[in-house]
Amino acid sequence: MGFSEPITSTVAVADAAVPQTADDLSRRMHVPRVKRFVRSAVFTLLRFSGLPFLIRELWQRNRVTIVTYHELDPAHADVHFLTLRARYNVISLSHFLAARSSRTVESLPRKALIITLDDGHRSNFDLRSVIEKHRIPVTIFLCSGIVGTHRHYWWLHTKDAREAQALKALPDEQRVQVLLSRGHADGQEYETRQSLSRDEITAMKSIVDFQSHTVLHPILPACSIERARSEIVASKEALESEHGLKIYALAYPNGDYSDREASLLQQAGYACGLTLDAGSNDAHTDPFRLRRVALPDDARINEVIVKTSGLWAFLKAFASKRTTLGQAC
Ligand SMILES: [Zn+2]
Repeated sequence: MGFSEPITSTVAVADAAVPQTADDLSRRMHVPRVKRFVRSAVFTLLRFSGLPFLIRELWQRNRVTIVTYHELDPAHADVHFLTLRARYNVISLSHFLAARSSRTVESLPRKALIITLDDGHRSNFDLRSVIEKHRIPVTIFLCSGIVGTHRHYWWLHTKDAREAQALKALPDEQRVQVLLSRGHADGQEYETRQSLSRDEITAMKSIVDFQSHTVLHPILPACSIERARSEIVASKEALESEHGLKIYALAYPNGDYSDREASLLQQAGYACGLTLDAGSNDAHTDPFRLRRVALPDDARINEVIVKTSGLWAFLKAFASKRTTLGQAC
């Protein structure tokens, strides 16, 4: 999941647990129309400033950029894939790792880009024809305890995105207790299905590289070491034994990890871990701390181009540094 709201420490308890889609959540966050217009204008200006082009040609040329989505719909996927393919060379995650192992990263296509999706949402199945049309490799990270069941993603049982952020900041037992208090348990089955089914995973296997996103998507650093280890180990085992997949990569839920998680992944036999740390990758990037760019599923072309270049993350980091310095003074 990927919300950009700041983490707060208060948890407002909703009256009832109502399943929500990501769209519901963003609507309820109520981004004012003026703010959306200004944001769109900023992305347009940044795109045509020429900076994304310069960054691609000078910085990303010999690096590997990884982007991630969640519930990308076919119409946006078609436009996004076209936009990205026109500017980057899409390669698979396994191709990058193989080049790393054989120390031949420099032989990868220039401006290499890897496309990933997190969580294994049911709607990912609708992307088949777009993936086939563009003939590009895509990696989808699955929660082994949710795919193939009628269990739900826990953050879709929170009041809104702000509350989901607040729950992520809690120790995992407390997060579970808050959700239990409103009638949602991690292992609970519902009438509706939110994730890919077993048959859908089988049907997509030939065009999609499925990898691990833990069992039930807890925030790993907020878990006890036993729970964190179990989420990492059991997810790999289940996806391999129940779905016949070869699991070598794990995307940290919410991009959250610490040295402990990186080490647990290594011990469990993974070859890499993917974060949401800003930036791109090269032969020297720690494979258990691969950087990714989170792209909104409904982003317009200008936002896709600006964010994929890394310019947006750079400007945000610069702005927050200035704010921090200002506050310190
Ligand atoms: Zn996720």
